[in-house]
Amino acid sequence: MGVTARRTLDKLSPMRPRGQRLLNTPLVEAIPAWLARARGNATARRLAQSEWLLRRKSDGRFLAAVDHGDVHSLDASTLRTDTGIGAALDAIASDTGVVVTLDASASSLAALDIPDDYGARHGLQLIAEPAELAFAGRDRYRRPLWLLAPAARAWSRLRAAALADGIVLDAISGYRGHAYQLGIFQRKLARGQTIAQILTVNTPPGYSEHHSGLAIDIGTPGEPPAEESFETTPAFAWLTQHAARFGFTMSYPRDNPHGIVYEPWHWAFSAR
Ligand SMILES: [Zn+2]
Repeated sequence: MGVTARRTLDKLSPMRPRGQRLLNTPLVEAIPAWLARARGNATARRLAQSEWLLRRKSDGRFLAAVDHGDVHSLDASTLRTDTGIGAALDAIASDTGVVVTLDASASSLAALDIPDDYGARHGLQLIAEPAELAFAGRDRYRRPLWLLAPAARAWSRLRAAALADGIVLDAISGYRGHAYQLGIFQRKLARGQTIAQILTVNTPPGYSEHHSGLAIDIGTPGEPPAEESFETTPAFAWLTQHAARFGFTMSYPRDNPHGIVYEPWHWAFSAR
C-alpha cells in the first residue's frame, strides 16, 4: 500500500489513542480495554470497540465494557447495585480514580485472624492502593504490569540500562491490590496451610509493598520466579551495582528488621 493510500485509510478510521492508565475504586478497577485478554469471541469483539474494561478486583471477573459513556454488561451480576460499578463509572467520567485504604479492623484481615499487632511487631504500615496506576509494559507472563507513574518510568530506564550492559531484566509482579493479596491467603488456607505458615512468606493484605505500586519482583530469563537463587545471577549483581542510580533499593535484605524472608528479587522505587 502506498503512503497516500495509507493516509486516506487513517483518515477514515483514525486510530484512537490507547489508554495507559488503571483507574482504581474500592471494588472495581477500570483498565484500558485493549490491554484485557478476553475469554471468548463475543467479549473480544466488545472490548475491541470499547475504551475501558471494568474488572471486579476480588476475582478479576469482567463486569462491563465502557465506550464514551455507553456501558455494555459482560456479566449478569453487573446489573446488581452492590457490585461497586457505579464508583468505577464515576472514576471514568471524572478521569480520576480513588485511593483505597484498608484499616487494621477490616473484615478481610479479621477473617484471616491476623494478629492485631502484626504491623507494629513487623514495623510495617498499612499501605493504600493508589488512585491511578500506569501501564509499565508486560511482565514475564505477558500480563500488563502496573506501577505508579514515576516507578514505571524508572523501571523502563533501569531495564534499558541493564540491556545496554547485556543484562535482561523482566518483571514477575508489580502492583497488586489488597484483594489479590487476600486471594493468595485464601488459596493457601484452602490447601491446608496455617496462617502462621503463610505469614513466614507472605505479608497480609494491606501490608504488602506491592499495594503501593512502587515495588517490583524482578527476574531474569531462565531463572525461576522469586527464588533466593536469583542472588547468584549476573542480573542480581548488576542490580546491586546500578539499581540505586534509578531509585530502586532491595526492600528485604537478609536479617531485615521486618522479619520478612530474604527476597533478593523484590525491589522498590522511591523518588529522590
Ligand atoms: Zn515482592
